[in-house]
Amino acid sequence: DRLVGTDADGEDRAVEAALRPKDLGEFVGQERVREQLDLVLKAARARGATADHVLLSGAPGLGKTTLSMIIAAEMGAPIRITSGPAIQHAGDLAAILSSLTEGEVLFLDEIHRMSRPAEEMLYMAMEDFRVDVIVGKGPGATAIPLELPPFTLVGATTRAGLLPPPLRDRFGFTGHMEFYAPAELQRVVHRSARLLDVEIADQGAAEIAGRSRGTPRIANRLLRRVRDYAQVKADGVITREIAAQALDVYEVDARGLDRLDRAVLTALLKLFGGGPVGLSTLAVAVGEERETVEEVAEPFLVREGLLARTPRGRIATPAAWEHLGLTRDAGAAG
Ligand code: ADP
Repeated sequence: DRLVGTDADGEDRAVEAALRPKDLGEFVGQERVREQLDLVLKAARARGATADHVLLSGAPGLGKTTLSMIIAAEMGAPIRITSGPAIQHAGDLAAILSSLTEGEVLFLDEIHRMSRPAEEMLYMAMEDFRVDVIVGKGPGATAIPLELPPFTLVGATTRAGLLPPPLRDRFGFTGHMEFYAPAELQRVVHRSARLLDVEIADQGAAEIAGRSRGTPRIANRLLRRVRDYAQVKADGVITREIAAQALDVYEVDARGLDRLDRAVLTALLKLFGGGPVGLSTLAVAVGEERETVEEVAEPFLVREGLLARTPRGRIATPAAWEHLGLTRDAGAAG
């Protein structure tokens, strides 16, 4: 598992519950989504109604699950958490929907990965708070309509564009979650350090924030690794130097690139003069699968402006040469 991977691993799941902000005021950053959501929830509360369905789009680890829990907390409602891939059959969804209580929040992570029949059932449930439960098979099958209590669906997806328009249109509000600025991540790190009872200097938090790829989940994970290092190699206090040394040991560099990212970039620069080079050739050069390079390493390199995908192949940007301390003509310079 990558230290800078975005999906939650076992350890993340174990500590994340303790690190999640409990209300909108505690939730760092995402000003726009926070402000909009605040209005949606306040208006619903003032009307004494259930909040509109909410769609949250954004990369893993940016706080979609956390926000869904905050929505439930702010509405004083219970929450049920499930995911698209966990719902194989429409019947699975019917079972969940029919057991919801009035006002309950249903969080559906990776909603774009739900099966087609379940998705169609969800349309009706969202719009009319009703599902048709099919009883029996073949020509004798009958649809029994079932009334549902009003509930709030919070759907999460990596990109809103992945959803079929009929589903997307049934959400009253869509919040787009952005990657976090370093200063925001620094606040996330400070907050988590306080909750984990770790002493950290401002510059230590900044060092971790700068290597966290705009993602709170990664920031929290790096903080835990740096804490280990500070306890074993120093007096437990996280200074800038300790954070930098620790993350160098874990091979997460100053910009948040890990060993794989650097291998891809180094091959592109040193073996192919900065490109253009085809994806397959590049993958062979680093001894990785094509998919690994394309799906695991490239998205962040592209986002960082270090690598570009062109019709003729992958090319390195001037920033890539600079980041690895290489010059185009001399090859290795540092
Ligand atoms: P997602 O559902 O988008 O994958 P999560 O809600 O599970 O992300 O968040 C991952 C971790 O990051 C959690 O531990 C959470 O505490 C932390 N986190 C996310 N967003 C914020 C934020 N805005 N402020 C503080 N911590 C956050």
